[in-house]
Amino acid sequence: MQQQDIYVGFPSPPDKQAIVEALLNDPPEMRWRTVRQLFQIADVKDREELIQTLQPHLKAADDWRLRYRLHLALQALHRPLNITGYRLVRGKGASRLSEPLEEHSSFPSSPPFFPVVDFHIHPKTPDLKFFVDMREAGITHGVILATDTDPEDVERPEVREQIKMAFDRSHASGAMGFDSLLKHIQKSLYSPTHVTNQDVADWVKDYPDMLIGFGSVDLCKDRAYVRRTLDEIERLKLRGLKFLPHSQFFNPAENEHMSMIFEYCEHTGSIILSHSGCGPGPFEIIELSHNSRPGLWESWVKKYPHVPLVLAHAGAYSAEVPGIWLLDALQLGKAHPNVYIDLAAVDWLLDREIVIQEIRKTIGFDHVLFATDYPLPLSAGVSWACIVKRIQANTNLTPREKQKILGRNAARLLRLE
Ligand SMILES: [Zn+2]
Repeated sequence: MQQQDIYVGFPSPPDKQAIVEALLNDPPEMRWRTVRQLFQIADVKDREELIQTLQPHLKAADDWRLRYRLHLALQALHRPLNITGYRLVRGKGASRLSEPLEEHSSFPSSPPFFPVVDFHIHPKTPDLKFFVDMREAGITHGVILATDTDPEDVERPEVREQIKMAFDRSHASGAMGFDSLLKHIQKSLYSPTHVTNQDVADWVKDYPDMLIGFGSVDLCKDRAYVRRTLDEIERLKLRGLKFLPHSQFFNPAENEHMSMIFEYCEHTGSIILSHSGCGPGPFEIIELSHNSRPGLWESWVKKYPHVPLVLAHAGAYSAEVPGIWLLDALQLGKAHPNVYIDLAAVDWLLDREIVIQEIRKTIGFDHVLFATDYPLPLSAGVSWACIVKRIQANTNLTPREKQKILGRNAARLLRLE
């Protein structure tokens, strides 16, 4: 099928029949592979025909994973994306049409090389938009994260019991019923941030010099599932593991799979990145996010000093109590040099001089990583570039500290240099 001429170096999209078959029959873990190709289709009539063919299947699909893939496909077909003045080059990212193609380079490869690394990205944006934003922000590398959450977890008695106990302790229990809470939670686990390990590996394969992929494994599942998923992550050559203890319903201090996880990381040189602080949506109820307290990792980071643990959101994210477990995260980092924090959704922390002083006294700026939770800031009208500029303009930080946060620490951790 005809391809928009702003896509350079990509194979042209398959014919309509093959597209429909892939969308209906591919294994569910290939959620984005075909969807991403749909953005490249040039002809309006081709798009309309595909919409007509796919629409009835959306209503008929029982499996939520298939329904979600079809939903994404229809969105991509309804809203073709074209960003004026830019092209997308496979392996290199976005460049301006006014620049000659041969000179295209996503970042300078010869010294002095100053990497700018976003350590916390959810890949769920069309490639063209993603790479134009990345380029405008001056970001050279991004860590993209899989999210292995499952709405069906909530139906298991032991998970349900765990949620019930936490909910009963919370002030929200007087205001809403348990069943409506469960529905709310289940809905949030269908979230569009649910990107599979295979999706992440597919993106990395297209842009190997710019993207670093982390897999994810749901630790409230049984041993066979965890083993199988770790094998998959290793086979896909992903470089780390992303956890969400509150929405994967496990307590890091007590989880039965944790030795296996740390052994895996030690053996493969993988990094752990775990959500810390409250979760979004129903998990804003603090008691429901207790599994995401930083201190629950302590015995593990002590036992495995060579496995890096990144506490996403610095333990600080919470709509109700911003900064909620920040001090715990900083103390954990002070005691254990393999602990890092990322600034995703909490970059406001660096506007507070008192927080900066506390960081210097505890975890130190060698252990703070620039991160944004992209594309989350877009929903608040904040561009990727704006967040980078805010750090660059921060008068509380020294130039050296800014360099470390924006890229040097991540480059060292990810062995980019
Ligand atoms: Zn995130």
